[in-house]
Amino acid sequence: MYFDTAEGPVFRPPSEAQSFILRVTIGCSHNRCTYCNMYRSVNFRIRTMDEILDQINQARRYQNHIRRVFLADGNALVLANEKLLEILKILKDSFPRLQRVSCYAGPQDILRKSTAELQQLNEAGLKLVYYGMESGDDEVLEHVCKGVNAAQSIEAGQKIIGAGIKLSMMVILGLAGKSGSNRHAKKTAEAISAIGPNMLSALTLMMYRGSELRDEYERGEFELLSPPEIMSELYNIISNIELPSDSHCIFRSNHISNYTMLAGTLPQDREKLLSNIKSAEAELINLKEWDPYNNVER
Ligand code: SF4
Repeated sequence: MYFDTAEGPVFRPPSEAQSFILRVTIGCSHNRCTYCNMYRSVNFRIRTMDEILDQINQARRYQNHIRRVFLADGNALVLANEKLLEILKILKDSFPRLQRVSCYAGPQDILRKSTAELQQLNEAGLKLVYYGMESGDDEVLEHVCKGVNAAQSIEAGQKIIGAGIKLSMMVILGLAGKSGSNRHAKKTAEAISAIGPNMLSALTLMMYRGSELRDEYERGEFELLSPPEIMSELYNIISNIELPSDSHCIFRSNHISNYTMLAGTLPQDREKLLSNIKSAEAELINLKEWDPYNNVER
């Protein structure tokens, strides 16, 4: 979900539709993931405190309505803790009904912070972090230039949970292409099990214009999974996730990229989800016409 502004697009998770979107950075400091084109058009910079205050002051007129704030753009945790704590305090003082502040976070930024620093952020109001782990497989992470390996990805997720911040994690179906699908599914399930996120979303790979992965695809060097193969990969992931029986991981596969909408809680709804995935897979196999370019942005 995004809006275009004078200084590039602003993205936010669908669940932040009612939130005040406060831009603390412009763009993403990593900006190298080969499947992503979100911030390719903008030069990364951290906004000045004056710019941030200006946006907060403009929002004060809605102070009785603002309950949630989302810190944009791509990786707000790149900010020094001191600056984040100052922003969180101003938000708390400005919006009396504020319930939570959230942001996207990259694994490298999470790892750069100590657990004590993350705990300080939590106590100051940062209650939810959206983290695109994408895969738990070293080969995939290296191929897409995520900037971390699987062990570091897991450590980043565990650090957020360990600091008491809720973790909403995203993984991408089809990211390993056909040849790596089974390994991607198995390793991703292992990583999810090791982290135990509060929320988990499975998106389907899209070939965004301007992304290196799309160039690979167009050169015939990367094979997209068909819709039934995507469902089979998701089946493998869900069936291999091992979470304690008292976990309540809210699972959603309801992004615009997904071929079918799925929702449940893990591990309680695992069998129902697996059965729904099998049904969806069968329906997709029976599709008379399938556009293999369905997930290619034109
Ligand atoms: S996927 Fe996230 S971390 Fe990677 S380039 Fe895009 S915004 Fe940055």
